[in-house]
Amino acid sequence: NLKLDKSSKLYEEANLYTPGGVHTSIRNVEPHLVFNRAEGAYIYDVDGNRYIDYQAAFGPFILGHNNRYVNSKVIENLSREDLFGTGTTELEIELSKLICKHVPSAEQVLFCNSGSEATYHAIRLSRAITERTKIIKFQGCYHGWHDYVARNMLSPWDKIGKRDPGSAGMLDEAIDNTLICTFNDLEDVEQTFKQNQGQIAALIVEPIPHNIGCILPQSGFLAGLRKLCSEYGALLIFDEVITGFRHDLGGFQKIAGITPDITTMGKAMANGFPIAAIAGKKEYMSRFNTQPGGDVWFAGTYNGHAVGTSAALATMQLMETAPVHKHVFRLGDRVRVGIRDILDRLGIEGYVAGFGSVWTTYFMNFEPKNYIDLQHNDAEFYVSFRKKLLEKGIFKLPMNLKRNHISYSHTEADIDYTLDVIEAVLREMKK
Ligand code: PMP
Repeated sequence: NLKLDKSSKLYEEANLYTPGGVHTSIRNVEPHLVFNRAEGAYIYDVDGNRYIDYQAAFGPFILGHNNRYVNSKVIENLSREDLFGTGTTELEIELSKLICKHVPSAEQVLFCNSGSEATYHAIRLSRAITERTKIIKFQGCYHGWHDYVARNMLSPWDKIGKRDPGSAGMLDEAIDNTLICTFNDLEDVEQTFKQNQGQIAALIVEPIPHNIGCILPQSGFLAGLRKLCSEYGALLIFDEVITGFRHDLGGFQKIAGITPDITTMGKAMANGFPIAAIAGKKEYMSRFNTQPGGDVWFAGTYNGHAVGTSAALATMQLMETAPVHKHVFRLGDRVRVGIRDILDRLGIEGYVAGFGSVWTTYFMNFEPKNYIDLQHNDAEFYVSFRKKLLEKGIFKLPMNLKRNHISYSHTEADIDYTLDVIEAVLREMKK
């Protein structure tokens, strides 16, 4: 029942100039909204509808939209500087220091502009270090749009071994050199290492696969991956593009007590401003040709721009001084407990998943531990649930993509309103 006249008209115009009218693949969903305002926990479309935002642009907004302190630091620094083609900046030095202070695996760090760039560099670096070609990734995990990781990118149902490129136009070599394992299945990983002795350069993993939907690593799984990588001479890459900074300033590795060889970061690092990072042991990082003698290419015109570095510094400073994580973890618990109660009250089969500020609901009666478990699929129900919530001003990830993000700007009142709406919608859907 949303009034979307202006959005619809503008969306038609967008289609004239841009394929599908949107600038990244999964933004093209119905209803087609055109946005023009974002503040704190809320986003507004051009028709003036307000939504409590849990999509959070896929995760960066840990403080909330348009955070005044972060914006002011960006503007302050921009009044003085922007981008330099040689040398370095005080902002870059300060930010590097801060990341190395907090992230356990980070002895050195390099900045780029997106998570995809960071994972590309991480994989190429691991191939250079090990002089091997294959990588292992997990079914349903997402690490970016490039060929190295695009296989199984949007979680097709096909199980391992099937050739399922994530995109037309990919190199056969990239597809064939990406081995897909099942998350939380150490035996599967061990078998894959055994069958590809001496060929695996790296294993890349989201320590919590939020791209499958808040799937938690079972006890011993991440430690098992660490052990297998060391045993078989492969590098362990933690892709902390979502988990980094959102769950802890030191990333999920700090919480789990497992140290990867290389870490990729982005998103919550700068509360929505474009910057990402790759970090790791000095011995590995010094292979990049930012260091004289380094032989692994690392470059980018916009790397270290004052916009991203200022925003990341301000975001991290706020996380150090304000109770950001305490707040989002508390609200995360509140929403999870609240939904669990609603499901019980209404007698609806469901599993409430999540960690800290990230949460979702599976309309099935057990905890999914990997992508295969989701073949007991609740997609149709979930999609219609999402649509009904949207009509009542609650904005979640599109389609059947399952995770919601809470920011420091969300309030208890926002969570309670969300729970009231969820209860009303589920009551209606149950009929
Ligand atoms: N890694 C993970 C875990 C991600 O979730 C994403 C983006 N959703 C990426 C990498 C790619 O980041 P970007 O979209 O900034 O290229």
